[in-house]
Amino acid sequence: MEIIAAYSQHTFLPATHFSYDAADEVINYYPQALKTNSGKIALLHEISHCELGHFHYVSDLQLYAMEIDAWLLTRKLAEKFNVPVEEDYIDECIESYNAWIEKRGTCPRCSTFCAQKSETEFSCYNCSTRWRVSASPQVRTRRRIVAN
Ligand SMILES: [Zn+2]
Ligand SMILES: [Zn+2]
Repeated sequence: MEIIAAYSQHTFLPATHFSYDAADEVINYYPQALKTNSGKIALLHEISHCELGHFHYVSDLQLYAMEIDAWLLTRKLAEKFNVPVEEDYIDECIESYNAWIEKRGTCPRCSTFCAQKSETEFSCYNCSTRWRVSASPQVRTRRRIVAN
């Protein structure tokens, strides 16, 4: 695969999804999807995270800023590799991050949108409910109430 060959300094692992594992500096990719245009864009997007040196994030807002940066670089790389940029696909991805951030940050008890306490824990300033979420955007959001 031409794109992967151009980044032989990075580690690529076949997987069932596209992601960048900042802790191990591994780019996971879904081989079957590389035949499609959006698969190539998804691969370039994860390469962008890697190229930008994105680390394991601390807060949802930082993650969001990293996503926007990564998409800017993805557009440039797509041009370089002659992959047509599908703005609709990019919008969809950014929209899904928005929804992810909103769902994680919304109090499961009173629906107030709250600030994050740590990477995986939130607390509500309105009703003091505390809840935990998973760290990875790849995992479906499930809010677990920890204490009141
Ligand atoms: Zn990303
Ligand atoms: Zn609440």
